[in-house]
Amino acid sequence: MEPEKIRWTKEGNPIVPDHPIVAYIEGDGTGPEIFSATRTVLDAAVEKAYGGKRKIHWKELLAGEKACKELGPDQHLPQETLEGLRYYGVALKGPLTTPVGGGIRSINVAIRQILDLYACIRPVRYIPGLPSPLRYPEKVDLVIFRENTEDVYAGIEWPAGDERAKEIIRFINKHLSGDGIKIGEDSAIGIKPMSRFGTQRLVDMALRYALKHGYKSVTLVHKGNIMKFTEGAFREWGYELARERYRDKVIFEQELLSGQDPQGKLILKDRIADNMFQQMILRPEEYGVLATPNLNGDYLSDAAAALVGGLGMAPGANVGDRCAVFEATHGSAPKYKGLDKVNPSSLILSGVEMLRFLGWEEAADMIILALIKVIEKRLVTYDLARQMKGATEVSCSKFGGLLVEELERF
Ligand code: NAD
Repeated sequence: MEPEKIRWTKEGNPIVPDHPIVAYIEGDGTGPEIFSATRTVLDAAVEKAYGGKRKIHWKELLAGEKACKELGPDQHLPQETLEGLRYYGVALKGPLTTPVGGGIRSINVAIRQILDLYACIRPVRYIPGLPSPLRYPEKVDLVIFRENTEDVYAGIEWPAGDERAKEIIRFINKHLSGDGIKIGEDSAIGIKPMSRFGTQRLVDMALRYALKHGYKSVTLVHKGNIMKFTEGAFREWGYELARERYRDKVIFEQELLSGQDPQGKLILKDRIADNMFQQMILRPEEYGVLATPNLNGDYLSDAAAALVGGLGMAPGANVGDRCAVFEATHGSAPKYKGLDKVNPSSLILSGVEMLRFLGWEEAADMIILALIKVIEKRLVTYDLARQMKGATEVSCSKFGGLLVEELERF
């Protein structure tokens, strides 16, 4: 069968042929090692689950140090790679080292911004046997949808003393002093834009995901008690969208509290961000999908990952309406480059999410079962071995190989 590219519906869902072309970026530092282990595992699972009827056709795109080496200096993110990501629409990406000095601020951020991958999706699920600070980590099954394009993260800021910062301060002190506002002249200035459009497309994606995957609730996480017109609006716009577009499928927590029957509907609730941190640790079973603005989501995602084995076990994806890039959540760990040592699980689990996104659930489930078996035997990479009693340390490639052996036994 001829390999084909994945197409997208106008609602932002992929149309997946049996032989799709999936783009990949190997990544820098330890990227090639974890990518190689991941690809072997994904291919073995797909082969085992569908016996040749389905197969991923990998298409390499260059970025980072490899692109600079092959195409010339300052080619960290070649135009051809961006076009390739746009064209193929689904990609698996290893971590890229942020270049030091001038030029591009971060290749990873540039990919998200240029391709408008507006949702950072971070599933947080427990795999039995992993080290966890929780007494009942098996109760954790969260998926965090973090807005990726707005908020103080949009990078609109100026240093203290900069002419533009001073001009904004002068304007505010002159025109808004009537509101009691006075900003010190030596202040740095950052701007926090949050829009109805940006919020609602993120919440829409979170609601669709929760409905599709049978989660019981979506929680809007915000700091609207203090930042009323940005974070508070995130909450309002979220409810507004649900009311306008999903009224038949969603019930609000307020309605439940006033005695209405949930009728099997998805529950929409909201929590203030600081409370959410507590809730996630004390009562994780009460939460499913979380939708958050950019900065809250950043903190929350890493804290949540720590509950179920840390960043080495945390998958991630950056998704828009026409493109989805699945990627490890950690960086390129350059000090371990070439040592065949680091844990490939974050990228493998990102690959599992990619398989689920393609609708290839059987292959995805098999990899999770294989992971459970290998971790049960306490054969793990160094990062887990040092936290697990009686564990034997194995290399990155060996860990991948053990997963393939388990897959072959199914
Ligand atoms: P890092 O995540 O690369 O590494 C920090 C430490 O975490 C490592 O020294 C190692 O001890 C541990 N670690 C990371 N990945 C591991 C794995 N798979 N298995 C076991 N241990 C692991 O963070 P850093 O050193 O701050 O960043 C290195 C580079 O990666 C920087 O240039 C940074 O900008 C970049 N980065 C890229 C991404 C991305 O591509 N999405 C994300 C974060 C950082």
